[in-house]
Amino acid sequence: MKKIWVTKSLAFTVLSAALLSGCASNTASSDGKLNVVTSFYPMYEFTKQVAGDHANVIALIPPGAEPHDWEPSAKDMKQLKNANVFVYNGIVEGWAEQALKSAENKNRVVVEASKGIELMEGLAEEEHEEDHKKEDKNHKEEAHGDKILDPHVWLTPVLAVQEVEAIVIGLTQADPAHKEDYRKNADAYIGKLKALDESFKTGLTNVKRKEFVTQHAAFGYLAKEYGLTQVPIAGLSPEEEPAPDKMADIIKFAKDNKVQTIFFETLVDPKVANTIAKEVGAKTAVLNPLEGLTDDDKKKNLDYIGVMTNNLEALKKALNE
Ligand SMILES: [Zn+2]
Repeated sequence: MKKIWVTKSLAFTVLSAALLSGCASNTASSDGKLNVVTSFYPMYEFTKQVAGDHANVIALIPPGAEPHDWEPSAKDMKQLKNANVFVYNGIVEGWAEQALKSAENKNRVVVEASKGIELMEGLAEEEHEEDHKKEDKNHKEEAHGDKILDPHVWLTPVLAVQEVEAIVIGLTQADPAHKEDYRKNADAYIGKLKALDESFKTGLTNVKRKEFVTQHAAFGYLAKEYGLTQVPIAGLSPEEEPAPDKMADIIKFAKDNKVQTIFFETLVDPKVANTIAKEVGAKTAVLNPLEGLTDDDKKKNLDYIGVMTNNLEALKKALNE
């Protein structure tokens, strides 16, 4: 078992090393710790877990902000420029490429945590695609031809493991002296992520139904991993308003399949989810895409594992109705 993991991890290391840019830096903060800047919550959490006490880790995007339509301020750019390491997911942070160029720092190590993961094509809303391109310039999902790639890999524990591995490589590159600690911290956290994956596997086998209605298309990887189907109201970004005929389709689907729960998110206005739920006589419940934490989440001391555990419980309940 262990041997297999080592082999896999080595293959991934070789792959990821080639994808990281920058080189080792000696510009750590005055307390001797690395200055690590991350983008949104899961990147912050994964990085903190790997870094332990060896780095000051900050998240540029405030916990309660929705990252899909966020842009850096002048202060954020300064922090980015002074960072020893910058960790981001990729694709969600449409601003990152340009910001990294503007806030140039040749010694900064950049970790695009989703790089090396085979990304799925997202669900583009065809009719509205042209409008979105024109009006929604903040929403820069990476376009490859007409394909839109789905960035939401952090919502699947096994893919989160790969992101953690990319972060280990980045921190080690910037601070080789603490290589062993980064490895040890990562292994401990990966153990928790694998246990989480096991809970999802066990909890979602033998559920009564396989389809779940979500506020935006954030759960594609999770659905694929555990043999489920997500029926998203909005596309890859939560701010997209669904077209009227798509609303009608979802309502019809929910009625035909007697769906009893319509999921909504904590960082986005649930008005469309509420409308659909009312129309089909379903209730609403939270399925959290972990694009940030609310004050309420923080009060409850919820972290990535805690929110994912709540997500699993919410899914189990809805899929067994
Ligand atoms: Zn999203």
